[in-house]
Amino acid sequence: LTILGLESSCDDTAAAVVRQRGTQPAEIMSSIVLGQTELHAAFGGVVPEIAARAHAEKIDICVKQALSQAGLSLSDMDAIAVTAGPGLIGGVLAGVMCAKGLSVGAGLPLIGVNHLAGHALTPRLTERIDYPYLMLLVSGGHCQFLLVRGVDDFTRLGGTIDDAPGEAFDKTARLLGLPQPGGPSVEAEARNGDPARYAFPRPLLDREGCDMSFSGLKTALLRTRDRIVDEKGGLTSVDRADLCAGFQMAVADVLAEKTRRALRLYLADAPAVAVLSVAGGVAANSLIRSKLESVAAEMGALFIAPPLSLCTDNAAMIAYAGMEKYRAGLCDDLTLAARPRWPLDRSSPALLGSGK
Ligand code: ATP
Ligand code: FE
Repeated sequence: LTILGLESSCDDTAAAVVRQRGTQPAEIMSSIVLGQTELHAAFGGVVPEIAARAHAEKIDICVKQALSQAGLSLSDMDAIAVTAGPGLIGGVLAGVMCAKGLSVGAGLPLIGVNHLAGHALTPRLTERIDYPYLMLLVSGGHCQFLLVRGVDDFTRLGGTIDDAPGEAFDKTARLLGLPQPGGPSVEAEARNGDPARYAFPRPLLDREGCDMSFSGLKTALLRTRDRIVDEKGGLTSVDRADLCAGFQMAVADVLAEKTRRALRLYLADAPAVAVLSVAGGVAANSLIRSKLESVAAEMGALFIAPPLSLCTDNAAMIAYAGMEKYRAGLCDDLTLAARPRWPLDRSSPALLGSGK
């Protein structure tokens, strides 16, 4: 089975070819990601209109590159998978329209994939793991614990009630005058910092359950920065490093403790081999990765973190999720709609433990 995947929901135009023969592991034949960071740099964030135009301009060439890198042509594909949401609607539309054109032109089945399902199924692309497993999806726009029971069967155990951590990293970088995207620059600064010098809150840890909050952290950072500037007239590089280290440690502590709770819920009903996996751009953070790994080890679960290139937005995950949907007979037709919002979960934690 060979699937062409397309992704254009945020600021990366991506196309990939994934192939799986029988019961062999799936193989990424090609994966092209054309980023747009430079286009948005002057604006301090992704501008939807600019993103949509860039996707529309580049998606064809991206598909061509993916096919040629795989050494295959459209007629070698079995189906076309495309991100149909959630995301910036102009970009999603550009991808869906392109996929529809290819589907009609080549007479291939069309499969609409939920972008979050793409992230959530990534560990099955890289490792042999069975359902159900626990996934922490932590990115620029999302933060949630998902019990992944099947290609189209997700239970949300909890998540952020305000900002996503990636967003908080990006805002922190902006407040401290560091380059975007904020995650990598804050992480680099934090390497030389003392995480204990400034006190940051650990929101919602006193409350039961797996919900999280990150907007207070951002406010705490803003206040501390302003206090330092008031007292000393500016920030030294040591102050900046210490602020980054304190902020990053607070995010990592909250994620680790809430992961412990989510694991407890999952383990109450777990299969023989319990798996904790993580995906999304923030999963690239090495402190967060290592804390999650310790929590998994402590609770007897296997920790699986996909390689960084598959944690951030890419089309291989969309092609792979499309492949699982194809196998399950979940194909779409030309009425496939582009959706700005598309929640993955349809059930609540109340279902856990009760007759599944
Ligand atoms: P979504 O998938 O929710 O639509 P997105 O596409 O913006 O959002 P990703 O591409 O998965 O998200 O991740 C980008 C986010 O990850 C950015 O907010 C970025 O700052 C953050 N990030 C990247 N690297 C790191 C890192 N090393 N540490 C912390 N955060 C990071
Ligand atoms: Fe994403």
